[in-house]
Formats: sequence, C-alpha cells, structure tokens
Amino acid sequence: MNRPTLAPVHRLGLAILCLAVMAAAAPARTAPAIGPWLGAPRGSFDLVRGVGDAIEVSGTVRDPDSASALDVAILVDGERVQRLTTDRPGGFGEPVSFTTTVATDPGLHRVCLRLLGDSFGHRTVDCRDATTAPPRSVDPAVEANATGVLVTPTGVVAPVLGVDGNDYTVLTPCGAEATLSEGTFVERARVVIDAGHGGSESGAVGVGITEKNLNLVVAELVVEKLESLGISAQLTRTWDYRVPIKTRADIAAALAPDIFVSVHHNGGARRASVRPGTEVFYAEGMPESERAARIMYEEMVDALDDYSANWVSTVNEGASLRLREEGDDLYGIHRYSPGIPSIITEFVYLSNPSEAALMRQVELQELEADTIVSALLRWWWTDEDGSSRGRQFVDSSSSGTGGFDGCADPPLVVNSPLARRESTLALQQAELGRQAARALTPALFLATDPAVD
Ligand SMILES: [Zn+2]
Repeated sequence: MNRPTLAPVHRLGLAILCLAVMAAAAPARTAPAIGPWLGAPRGSFDLVRGVGDAIEVSGTVRDPDSASALDVAILVDGERVQRLTTDRPGGFGEPVSFTTTVATDPGLHRVCLRLLGDSFGHRTVDCRDATTAPPRSVDPAVEANATGVLVTPTGVVAPVLGVDGNDYTVLTPCGAEATLSEGTFVERARVVIDAGHGGSESGAVGVGITEKNLNLVVAELVVEKLESLGISAQLTRTWDYRVPIKTRADIAAALAPDIFVSVHHNGGARRASVRPGTEVFYAEGMPESERAARIMYEEMVDALDDYSANWVSTVNEGASLRLREEGDDLYGIHRYSPGIPSIITEFVYLSNPSEAALMRQVELQELEADTIVSALLRWWWTDEDGSSRGRQFVDSSSSGTGGFDGCADPPLVVNSPLARRESTLALQQAELGRQAARALTPALFLATDPAVD
C-alpha cells in the first residue's frame, strides 16, 4: 500500500521530503518513564492546513502530572520551526490549546507536533500533511464569468445565476431555473471533482459494483483528501441523482477551478493486456489539460503496479485526445468547459470481473483517490510531462447518455427519504469499510512518520 503512494512524492523532487524521509530513518528512542499514577503527557493537532504561503496549525496538549506551563515545538519536514510555551493551564493537568501559523517554502510538507521538557520526554506525538497553496493560474475570462454555486439543503450543487437579497436564482441539474433562500454558497474551488453518471444513468456495471456509486465514493475521497491538505474542492453531485453533462460543466465554470476532473471507471474492453488499460482523456488545444492527463495516467498505472488482475485494454489506453468528426472534443466535459483544464479518468475496467473485484476493496478505492491527489500535486508543483502513451483519434461513437432528455430534477430543499434511500444504503457500506481501513492506513504521502522518537 505504501509503495504506490510513495512514488509520486519522490518524483516531486522536493528536498524537503528527502529530509523528512531521512529523519524517518532515525532510530527510535524510548521516552523516559513518567509517573505511572497520572499517565503520560499527550498532545495532538486539531487542524493543520495550508493558507496561502503559510501553514496554519492548532492543537491541544495536556500534561496530567503538572500545573506548569507546557512547552511544545512545531516541526516542518523534520526541522523545528517554532517553539511555543503555552500559558499556565487553568488547573492541575488541564488541557491547553494552541494556535499558530508557520511560514514555509511552497510545496507539500509534513508537519509534526513535539512535546518538549523533561516531563514530556521530547516526544513527537502527531504528524499531518499540508501543502501551501499551489500557484493559481485561471483564464481571466473564466474567472470573470464565475458566479459560484449554491449547495442546496438536500446537497444538490447548483450554479448561481443571480442573487437578490437572500434569494439565489440557480440552475437545477436538469437545466431549469429555481429560486432558493436556503443553502450554502460556495464562491470558488481550486478543484472541481465530477462523479460520473448518477440516477437513472448507472454507467458501467461490474460484478457487485456499479460505476455511478464507485465514481461517487472515489470522488468524495478525493475531495476529503484535498481539503485535508488545505486545497478547496467541490463535487458536482453529492448523491445518486442524474446530472446532464452540460450542467456538470456549468458547475465547473461557476467555480473557476484550476482543474476539472471527471472520475469514471471503464466498460467494454475484452483484449487481454499485460498492464491495466487505464485511459485518461484531455481537452483539445489545452496544454495544461494534456499535461495533467499524462501525469494522471502515469500515476494511475504505477499505482496499480503492485496489484494483479486479468487486465484488459483497448488501443486507446494512455492519455488520449478523442475528437468528433467536426474536429472538436467528443466529450461534453471538455467541450462545454472552455478555458478550464479538464480531464476524464478511467482507472480500470469495471466490466471486467477481475478488475471489478479489485475495486470492491476499500484499499483500492483509497489508492485511486490518493493517486488522483498525488497526480494533481505533481501537476501543480512540477513542470513534468508524464507518460507519452496515448494517441489522438477521431471517434464520434458515444453512449448517447448525459443529455437533458427525460431528466427529472432531484428535490432541492426538502429531503425525500425515498429519493436518497438507494444512495445512502449503497454508500453507507463503503463508508463503514473506509473508516475501518483508515484506522489501519499509514500516512498518505510518506512511507513512515518522520522523527517519531
Ligand atoms: Zn463512465
């Protein structure tokens, strides 16, 4: 599980990460004995996240054996960057919270909390990953037209058309106008993550798993992982309802993201292959979309390298450009998102029972989400090109789904228990499995925690 997620970080080529890995190799030291009657001092982060060029940190420490001031240090990539002496606790052994901001170099960092002082025994007690804000470059025309989205009380994501006092006029998934006075307004997102299909459009069907549900599980994980790094991200749909392609693109346009990623799992191939038949599609005439797709493809195939399956593929494996006869993009995700780098990912073939069996495992769902996040970080922080496998081709055949015909809007305001029942049941199981897996899953981006001594 570690190897696939470790590889992308090494390619980031950031010296700071090497420092952290070197620190991780330091031999463990046993903390001095603490009075057994009250227990060891403790501490943990409540929050570690990038804010612009700095990392915001807050947490709580507690020494049950003392009423004196508490001494802690913040380490970034194995080096102590800040020492905090907290105020005297309110009472004997009471917990004390701290908040601070540390300036860092741009990039992905490992932030650790170390307890200092004799009674603390110089122990590193918690480590988290954070990235400072990657450089942002958004097409000025996209930024100028971005109006934000309203996430309605039922979780439906709707592009905002206009605001009048407390009333938001929004575009519904099926393309109607509606006026709402409740919901959460989201003005911008660095990444828009599209969970492909939904509602009556199931996408590819595998043994014991349906594409629309798997897409949502992975997309939710990607959003969660990006936000834990301090990078804002927004889903295009949050449960099992239908969203035409044009609406998905309108949501992206409303949020002016750095990148728009549509998560899919493939169907149809039968040709046996020595490697996964992963496909990633980029947008015509957009070098940053192409670069993102090439990096994404490379990361995905690398991530699957530790797993075996009876892989299948077509001649379209790789990072490809798929055009219509007219010469423009076949996929509406690209065609309706001018000025926004967009990519479509097809991690594995869900229609292949052997690959569907892999994707039923929570470990693989986590792996895919980690891989998408790692690829995005590499896209932001490097100018690498990624894999050259893939091709440009004209193929106008399409599934014929994704349009507005027969589209029925989900409830926007009042939750219908029936409407959400199916997706809730499908996702509950995955969520339970993820929670269990997370307890066992080590750090996302580094093989081991640095300097836990
Ligand atoms: Zn699909």
